[in-house]
Amino acid sequence: MKTYRIAAIPGDGIGKEVIPEGQKVLQAIAAKDQSLKFEFESFDWGGDYYRQHGVMMPEDGLDALRNKDAILFGSAGDPHIPDHITLWGLRLKICQGFDQYANVRPTRILPGIDAPLKRCTPEQLDWVIVRENSEGEYSGVGGRAHQSHPIEVATDVSMMTRAGVERIMRYAFKLAQSRPRKLLTVVTKSNAQRHAMVMWDEIAVQISKEFPDVKWDKELVDAATARMVNRPATLDTIVATNLHADILSDLAAALAGSLGIAPTGNIDPERRYPSMFEPIHGSAFDIMGKGLANPIGTFWSVVMMLEHLGEEAAAKRLMKAIEAVTANPRLHTRDLGGLATTAQVTAAICEQLN
Ligand code: ATP
Ligand code: MG
Repeated sequence: MKTYRIAAIPGDGIGKEVIPEGQKVLQAIAAKDQSLKFEFESFDWGGDYYRQHGVMMPEDGLDALRNKDAILFGSAGDPHIPDHITLWGLRLKICQGFDQYANVRPTRILPGIDAPLKRCTPEQLDWVIVRENSEGEYSGVGGRAHQSHPIEVATDVSMMTRAGVERIMRYAFKLAQSRPRKLLTVVTKSNAQRHAMVMWDEIAVQISKEFPDVKWDKELVDAATARMVNRPATLDTIVATNLHADILSDLAAALAGSLGIAPTGNIDPERRYPSMFEPIHGSAFDIMGKGLANPIGTFWSVVMMLEHLGEEAAAKRLMKAIEAVTANPRLHTRDLGGLATTAQVTAAICEQLN
């Protein structure tokens, strides 16, 4: 019997609704497969915790997570707390504290989903976006001049290190190599940003030599957005900076049908620390408490978690169940044009697993 210790951090808004559903699905998998067991510990960090304690998570919070096998995360965001506080105080604190430098975001058009790219078949849109998750535009470097200064200056420095770029580039080439098409697109803005982005291009050339069987090309980020819409089949694995990949992956999720479906993993490829899996959507307070939240993004994140834990068979079973459920329009939540509730989708997935 293999027992996995999972930290559950629902966070804010609909995170509190979808993460318990993810736990239910994991329990359903364990109930079917006697060789697997999941032990959960839940943490009530987020906006409510901030109102009580003045911080999004306790100072020694990372220590409570350190011995876990993985983290299942909901979302951090609260309409009454500035976004940079919720983001830096919880999600980025964990990502950076555990050096989860690869943020991996698969996108596919699942069966039965009415995606906006009508000219495109599901076979033609099968991407993984690899986002640099530890430095770049979100390095936190920068500052503001005192507001009484005659020229009010504020900077956010996109800081990149050779080691930081090399490791994400190597991760992306390796991932591209593991996929059937062995195709990588390196996205930058090296025409306008002439220091760090030029280094990024140079490092792509250098690392590509380690992977002679991977076909790769370069694209500027603005052109990449157009290419995702106009020529989706020419893309497979995409690697980009923290900010660029953040934007590209929201576009990818929307092109595949809904923000509510898309998953992500914040991975420490060296496995020194637990990796963290989460739906890419945010707290979505507009639909909170109504049973409207689509839990598929969380379930697909659970698939990624199982793959990371080496539980390939369980991951495949869950992905098959997800595809069977999305194929049935009666089981679509409102974001997909349906009437199903969060709980109904979970129940259908659990039934498929049986
Ligand atoms: P945050 O500030 O935490 O990013 P947000 O309010 O911007 O949260 P997002 O989650 O980014 O909300 O999503 C934008 C909109 O997409 C939401 O307002 C919601 O209507 C819809 N949406 C997002 N996730 C889901 C989901 N899982 N199911 C259904 N609708 C969703
Ligand atoms: Mg948002």
